Amino acid sequence: MKRAYLTIDDSPSKHTDELTDFLVSKNVPAVLFARGAFMDADEGFTKIVRAIEKGFTIANHSYAHERTSEIGFENQTGQILRTQNLIDRAYDEAGIARPPRYFRFPHLDRGCGNAFPINFETVPNEYRDYVQHLFWDGVRLETKTPPTPGQLKLKNDIQSWLAGNGFVKMPTPDITLPWWTGTELETAIDAMITFSTSDWMLSPRHVGKWPPKTAKDLTDKIDNDPFLNREDSAHIILMHDDREDLLTITENLVNHYLNSNFTFLKI
Ligand SMILES: [Zn+2]
Repeated sequence: MKRAYLTIDDSPSKHTDELTDFLVSKNVPAVLFARGAFMDADEGFTKIVRAIEKGFTIANHSYAHERTSEIGFENQTGQILRTQNLIDRAYDEAGIARPPRYFRFPHLDRGCGNAFPINFETVPNEYRDYVQHLFWDGVRLETKTPPTPGQLKLKNDIQSWLAGNGFVKMPTPDITLPWWTGTELETAIDAMITFSTSDWMLSPRHVGKWPPKTAKDLTDKIDNDPFLNREDSAHIILMHDDREDLLTITENLVNHYLNSNFTFLKI
């Protein structure tokens, strides 16, 4: 049996109700990382309350989905708090006790740009190439430069701020991957990933611009990953809410995981 935690970024969307109904029908728990701006728009807040009532965990994905390395400490921490207020209100409205605070950085930009989410040198040599590609899949590397001392300080400062403001690491003790244990991936307070489905690459805005171009390319990526299919560790899988007509793709991928003997764990 393969085990995974399903994390869904960029909620809510116009199809969050359908997405969560689908997941409930498949008995798949998930953590939805909500953007504050999306909760404030349209029926977004109501959709998040509804997802809470259906048993999903709502986590924080900041407000306007901006890059930490570009907007800096004050701006990003302000956006995180603004979003957390919305999430706390949604739990109150649902009448359900608030869970611990979990946070994931927009674009996985933790302060040093999305090409350098962690110090890759902390990863053992034999796994470094794999881990770099986990994060570089979907990053335009030609414009990226290594982090400056100021960016490294920003990354550390926000980790301290998160810890000081009640944010905790998502409890995923059964991840035992050799490139997770003992590296910055394991010590980060913010929510990291161990596999990206790259579902967004098939959204109307992006399709054709990246190597995966069909639904089969995405299921091949799942089937051929050397670590995802190992049964001696759980995984944190990244998918996305349906802001760009991804619902069919998402449903296909979840069905593929279930047909491939994955069990989704509740955080
Ligand atoms: Zn996002």
